[in-house]
Amino acid sequence: MPYDDDRRTACISTQAGCAMGCVFCATGQMGFARHLSSDEIFEQAIRFASLLHAEGERLSNVVLMGMGEPFHNYDESMKAVRRLMDDLNIGARHITISTVGLAPQIRRFADEDLQVRLAISLHAATDAERGALLPINKKWNLDELMTACRYYIQKTGRRITFEWALINGKTDTSEQAHALGNLLRGVMCHVNAIPLNPTAGYDGNPSTPSNAQEFADILETYGVSMTIRVRRGIDIDAGCGQLKSKVIKRNLISVESIAGE
Ligand code: SF4
Repeated sequence: MPYDDDRRTACISTQAGCAMGCVFCATGQMGFARHLSSDEIFEQAIRFASLLHAEGERLSNVVLMGMGEPFHNYDESMKAVRRLMDDLNIGARHITISTVGLAPQIRRFADEDLQVRLAISLHAATDAERGALLPINKKWNLDELMTACRYYIQKTGRRITFEWALINGKTDTSEQAHALGNLLRGVMCHVNAIPLNPTAGYDGNPSTPSNAQEFADILETYGVSMTIRVRRGIDIDAGCGQLKSKVIKRNLISVESIAGE
């Protein structure tokens, strides 16, 4: 993903498919096939890096936001992160791990003593709405998630980025904006909002620009900053949550079956 400020960012995957089942995500709709090894995770970045190198450019940033939940494949994801730093010389602050909210792993990550950035897919600020969109919320609800987030901030001194899909009439309402403001007031964080990327298996629609702006204006009254991001890759079905493949659903597991997380 090229950005105007010369950043060259690779968005890489940590699993084939995903077990988290987020309803608006094409990967979640596909189900879980298998974990990727640290080599497979790292290889995606090094391939991007060599393509850029051939054009006289350098890979500057890596986000673990592709297919899969990195903290469901914790050890291999962390091994790959260390290789990004050691073998590709990408600074920890230029690497971001995104999780849907596996509370115990957020604490474990806080204890790693790394400068790697943390992003959390929040998407709704009430348990009822979040549970309907993200099944993981039934395992670790907002209260448990925010307790883990506060531990992370207290332990690392780093802010958290909360990801928010703006879905027309669902997550862009004034009720959700006020609930989010109350949830994040005083928390060291930033909200990255992105209008929903359409997927075949979910009939929600992206927010209009005016609704998105009204949402941001309400959040601001709580002292919570928010950026409305541009959707990328929609034209080639490579936007967030659009990644598709013909991987056959095998070894299917559910969120409830993830033991010990
Ligand atoms: S949004 Fe992320 S965690 Fe949720 S199903 Fe998609 S890939 Fe998995």
